[in-house]
Amino acid sequence: MATIKAAEKIKEGSIFGQISALGHEQLVICYDEPTGLKAIIGIHNTVLGPALGGTRLWAYTSEEEAITDVLRLSRGMTFKAAISGLNIGGGKAVLMGDPKMKTEAYLRRLGRFIQSLGGRYVTAEDVNMSTRDMELIGMETSYVTGLPEIKGGGGDPSPVTAYGTYLGMKAAAKKAYGSDVLEGKRIVVQGIGQVGTHLVSHLMKEGAQVFITDIFEDKLYEVAKKTGAQVIQPEAVYDFNMDIYAPCALGATLNERSIPQLKCDIVAGGANNQLKDEDVHGQMLLDRGIVYAPDFLINAGGLINVYTEYLGDYKKELAFQRTEGIYDTCMEVLSLSQQDQRPPQEIAMEKAWGRIESMAKVKLPYGV
Ligand code: NAD
Repeated sequence: MATIKAAEKIKEGSIFGQISALGHEQLVICYDEPTGLKAIIGIHNTVLGPALGGTRLWAYTSEEEAITDVLRLSRGMTFKAAISGLNIGGGKAVLMGDPKMKTEAYLRRLGRFIQSLGGRYVTAEDVNMSTRDMELIGMETSYVTGLPEIKGGGGDPSPVTAYGTYLGMKAAAKKAYGSDVLEGKRIVVQGIGQVGTHLVSHLMKEGAQVFITDIFEDKLYEVAKKTGAQVIQPEAVYDFNMDIYAPCALGATLNERSIPQLKCDIVAGGANNQLKDEDVHGQMLLDRGIVYAPDFLINAGGLINVYTEYLGDYKKELAFQRTEGIYDTCMEVLSLSQQDQRPPQEIAMEKAWGRIESMAKVKLPYGV
């Protein structure tokens, strides 16, 4: 289980040291002088299928930072796909640069590099990348998903992500309260972006008492007006008197400072990497009696959406239907957590890795 327990902490050291600690199959460095493209593709594990994961464009301050990020993110995709029962592995690409560099040639050059991997890595959108960018990449490779709906793609994944998050929250409520009805519950949604806004709609429809916050005030009041949710200030979140806290903005909001302040029964939200330290802060939540719905399990709707597109003949209803499995998986993980008194994140990761280990008996890594 070294692959599970290792290594969010491994930030330095040799590249092979990091790859070995995190269990990657391959790290691909791509450089193209005429377009300025600097891409790093991380292929973590392809036992279940080709490595699928988005491309992130970011102004990394060093090559080490970019490598650490691609290794961490691609590993996360392996666990997300496995726990969701998808037949794909984990991968990610990072581009070192500025969004201004995204010319047609730059993106098509990336497409050619992806094509050269023969299908071991399939890309999609991530930070600073759009469905239009996927179209340009797709001029050079067939290993791309996240195309616009008008082109037969899955389009914006966030409604599907929000739906899965909502179902995961309901499963957590069932565990904490004996009923998954959210009517009347005081729920704080932190971050009214793509995912947060859709989540608020589900919660309002069910009659929850929803409080929203964001660092962009204008957007906050606009969403409040549209949905009827009440506004709270960003700094008021952690000690707000609530039943459920839904992080939908940044990672690492569950940490040594925030957890002791929390006045809630449940944490269930769409943000990635909510636990600052997986080993420490999952246990802290458990010790405080707070039910935690593992982020990578309940925010997998977006991945399920691009996976559905990758399989071909995309239908939005099918993506939503596949996402419904999140409720049962979350229940199963939370029940085991209660029974064994172990953090749900740990149990979910073991369950994901167990599926890979068992499939490794009948399958080799993809394409090698
Ligand atoms: P987004 O950028 O549209 O929304 C994030 C929102 O959080 C923004 O409105 C931003 O202003 C706000 N925010 C930032 N810092 C904040 C703070 N300190 N307090 C309150 N609000 C703050 O992003 P998104 O696509 O909605 O994604 C939200 C989270 O969900 C991210 O962590 C993302 O990685 C994760 N996620 C998204 C998807 C998806 O389908 N979009 C899928 C899986 C996971």
